[in-house]
Amino acid sequence: MLPYARPSITDAEIAEVEACLRSGWLATGPRTARFEAALGEQVGGLPVLGTCSGTAALHLALAALGIGPGDEVITSPMTWVSTANVILHVGATPVFADIEATTLNLDPAAVAAAVGPRTRCILPVHFGGAPCDMDALEGLAREHDVLLVEDAAHALGAAYAGRPIGSIGDATMFSFHPAKNLTTGEGGALVLRDAAVAARAARLRYHGIAQDPGARSSGRGPASYDVVEAGFKYAMSDLQAALGLVQLARLKEMNRRRAELAALYLDRLADVAGVAPLALPDARHRHAWHLMVVRVEIERLRVERDDLVGRLREAGIGAGVHFVPLHLQTLYRPLVPAGDAFPVATDAHRRILTLPLFPDMETSDVDRVIEVLTRILRETERGTAARAAAPAEA
Ligand SMILES: *Cc1c(COP(=O)(O)O)cnc(C)c1O
Repeated sequence: MLPYARPSITDAEIAEVEACLRSGWLATGPRTARFEAALGEQVGGLPVLGTCSGTAALHLALAALGIGPGDEVITSPMTWVSTANVILHVGATPVFADIEATTLNLDPAAVAAAVGPRTRCILPVHFGGAPCDMDALEGLAREHDVLLVEDAAHALGAAYAGRPIGSIGDATMFSFHPAKNLTTGEGGALVLRDAAVAARAARLRYHGIAQDPGARSSGRGPASYDVVEAGFKYAMSDLQAALGLVQLARLKEMNRRRAELAALYLDRLADVAGVAPLALPDARHRHAWHLMVVRVEIERLRVERDDLVGRLREAGIGAGVHFVPLHLQTLYRPLVPAGDAFPVATDAHRRILTLPLFPDMETSDVDRVIEVLTRILRETERGTAARAAAPAEA
């Protein structure tokens, strides 16, 4: 089975993790600090906090920015569930805005229409690693004096008009889940613009204790500690950071390989009828190529998208679906307007599927995916009977 994602782990990662194990320091410590500094350099020198997951980083961001009950956060329905779950965790209300059909990124016009008196924050998701329209979203955030928090789980290494993703919003979350462009096993990071917010996030990351946990556990700080608010246990461990340090040094090369494979896919897909890749960001932006998502002209087929994914998997191609939109989930259905308020996301959901893309894939793997996809599309195409029912040509 060719999975849709697989981490790229070399002997260098294994050696660094082993060195960490032998060092006797496994929890948050020197390797986490080095990882945070190295990542900070890539995002314009902003403060970075390593976390135990991307979800934890996003939760910390909203909590540290003081988003809470009575506040609305505008986000995309086309995302992983944690983007909206953390809005609920801080007691705020998620407000979905529809997406662009061609990129699956938030549609700035829909965001503008969703802004209201209670809006505190706009939370875009850089879908698949392609940057959102940040000129428009930053403009809206400024115009309405609201915060901009980015879910960049897919977008480590991406850039918008020369600005690295991570250097733009008030806060940016990265995920280092094993499927993502960089992995720490599980893990994440939070980048913050404001030093005071970063200090609060650091405190919330470690139980709400008002002192540097590294200083205390290394015996440099005072033996006593003071809990000033109910924080979380969200820090990255040095074992995770050991993996992350080597992965970060390899990120450019891994992302370059993703882009190379993506270009090959785009070339091959041009010859496959009824399947279109997502639109590319224009040339002044950099794509992180986290996911290879295609839109299938499902009307041409006798089967639904899920059947297509099933057939691909039976044939050894680990296709995925990113994502089942949140407005269709049981938890969020009561929170959205009646009727189909997000027709673009609903329609996209019927036709999207994710093809395998990861740095260690061979070019022959891409050819195999295209070959199998082409065969399955041919086998599931509506028959001549269905075509005969269509209006005859004049
Ligand atoms: C992976 C992902 C997350 C969550 O990251 P974790 O590290 O798994 O907690 C959030 N948002 C999006 C869009 C993701 O793909």
